[in-house]
Amino acid sequence: METLKLCEEFKGVLPFRQGLFVVNQDGSGYLLGNGCQRCGVTFFPRREFCIECYQSSTLENVKLDTIGTLHTFTIIYRATADFKTPYIVGYIDLEKNGVRIFAPITNCRPEDLKIGIKMELVFGKRNKIPKDEQDQQQLIYQFRPSK
Ligand SMILES: [Zn+2]
Repeated sequence: METLKLCEEFKGVLPFRQGLFVVNQDGSGYLLGNGCQRCGVTFFPRREFCIECYQSSTLENVKLDTIGTLHTFTIIYRATADFKTPYIVGYIDLEKNGVRIFAPITNCRPEDLKIGIKMELVFGKRNKIPKDEQDQQQLIYQFRPSK
């Protein structure tokens, strides 16, 4: 399986969970899903077995599409104490894989968003307020309006 390779910008920043995505040296990358070769269903995050046919031997890793359509979104004004508010989260339907991804939305104002617009995958540091100096920054996947 492919391992996480970090570009200079993200050196020292740990992914919030291993095995979800691959980041290239230039900062681009993709989400890592898996798909059932028997049913044609794709999953993200990856599953241990197919929820359609209950097989595990039929699953293979899939490099997910980085472009999708904004299905819906919301603006969070109240959250845990770890996060700066407001922030935006939403569901993005990937174009080729038939997968709906829940993710933070970045690099835009709420008024820039409209259901149905094109979105693209981007990696960044989590919008988290550090508890102390030892509190590690985390690398996360996000989506932004496509340019
Ligand atoms: Zn299946």
